[in-house]
Amino acid sequence: MMKNATIVLAGMLVALCVAAVVTVRLEPDAMSVAYAQTQQYDLVIRNGRIVDGTGSPWYRADIAVRGDTIALIAPSIAQPASRVIDANGHIVSPGFIDIHNHARENIFELPSADNYIRQGVTTLIEGPDGGSPVPLEPFLAKLEATQKSINVGSFIGQGSVREAVLGRANRRPSSAELDKMRGIVEDAMKAGAFGMSTGLFYVPGAFTPIEEGIELAKVAGKYGGIHISHMRDEAFGVLDSVRETIRIGEEGGLPTQVTHHKIVGPRNYGKSVETLKMLDAARVRGVDATSDQYPYTASSNAFVASMIPQWAQEGGREQMLARLKNPATRKEIGAETVRIIREERGGGDPKNVFLAHCEFDPAMAGKNLADVAKMRGMEPTIENGAEAAMWIVEQGNCQGVYHAMSEQDLERVMRHPATMIASDGWVQILGRGVPHPRSYGTFPRVLGLYVRERNVITLEDAIRKMTSFPAQRLRLNDRGVLRPGMKADIAVFDPARVRDTATFEKPHQYAEGFASVIVNGQVVFDGKAMTTARPGKVLRRN
Ligand SMILES: [Zn+2]
Repeated sequence: MMKNATIVLAGMLVALCVAAVVTVRLEPDAMSVAYAQTQQYDLVIRNGRIVDGTGSPWYRADIAVRGDTIALIAPSIAQPASRVIDANGHIVSPGFIDIHNHARENIFELPSADNYIRQGVTTLIEGPDGGSPVPLEPFLAKLEATQKSINVGSFIGQGSVREAVLGRANRRPSSAELDKMRGIVEDAMKAGAFGMSTGLFYVPGAFTPIEEGIELAKVAGKYGGIHISHMRDEAFGVLDSVRETIRIGEEGGLPTQVTHHKIVGPRNYGKSVETLKMLDAARVRGVDATSDQYPYTASSNAFVASMIPQWAQEGGREQMLARLKNPATRKEIGAETVRIIREERGGGDPKNVFLAHCEFDPAMAGKNLADVAKMRGMEPTIENGAEAAMWIVEQGNCQGVYHAMSEQDLERVMRHPATMIASDGWVQILGRGVPHPRSYGTFPRVLGLYVRERNVITLEDAIRKMTSFPAQRLRLNDRGVLRPGMKADIAVFDPARVRDTATFEKPHQYAEGFASVIVNGQVVFDGKAMTTARPGKVLRRN
């Protein structure tokens, strides 16, 4: 009797446990009406105009969030919620996905990534331009252990892979060395990298023969990754470089992307007509070639990379300094730097080349090459600008800003359907240096200046270029579109007020017009201030 009772009791317990497990399992996707009516939501956004990320025209609806997921989108959601946001007069869109980002410099110092969250960005993708941590996994693990506001993922950088195996040498790899590089790319892909970036403009990526790039791209492609490239030459060689980017995709067997597509130097202005035709032609024959862009006519990168010829950087900094000390090689370097100022990133005048931040002297930030020449008692000619550039490189590392692009090329690239928006910026510590304003203003600048004021693209298309398009590229199947079942990364903003306020002179200014930014269902910015929520996740390729 006792024994039977025990068995019955145990059986009931098992049944209860099973029931509990079933209940827990069913909870996230059991969308029965009865359930929805009795359970309260964690968050409801009411009365907004939904721009869902697909490019479709806006519609009016409420959005309910439970946990980190969009639970319901309906004309009117009356059920109770722990938190309600009235989005009357506002646009409700997916959070923006920045497919080209240099977050790793500062994300650990400022894991709230205020300058990105406050412009509606909810996901940053690191590892662009051929540069990433190698190996990648420890970086992702450290990010995983960091409480952050924003989602972060990464590419593996081919330049960094090459540097790990060959240093800064300008030579082809042996087959054993190539195998070693393949192994590093493969490990990174297994760790969840979204693909491989190349930075063929930078040393040592610049020393990469295309065959090597293709071989490594094949590894990334095998795991479902993409190739994204800061091309070898964005100035006189831009057409050849687009051809090369397409070829890496075509022969590597993976999608390929021209990142921060731009045309550098006055004599090259207008070449975007050709580059876009090349991308179109590639797409017609079945090569998945796309591009991304930031909405500014100035670029920014390491000063040495843009102002000193690549051959002079071979072997590393010490060897470069020795070449600058030798009067004969200094003259050769100077001649090429003169050409760079005259025809490429200098846009014809040393006044177009600015210092954003110099490790050796914070007071250099904001000065241009003409200022530096005068500071050193010289007339601000192009030749003296080159001399100033070499002097700066000898002092130490700087970040530069270069005004050498045309508005027409920028708008033409933006209008192209296969162009997405990406910032190429950094997580910024408020007030530090004079960085390129793209870190603060990329997304609102497109929405304010290029959508509202200039009508270059529609609001819905701009949002598509910031959300579903990069998500599709990265195979982020649960983000980038507002739909039930998707992760609740959401931006709420006023379409009449959204704008960038960061300028080249005063970059440390946050975007305006954002009322709420939500990451994985939690409000991280409430329109006035960052909240204490840290719901950001490390994203890995599916
Ligand atoms: Zn780049």
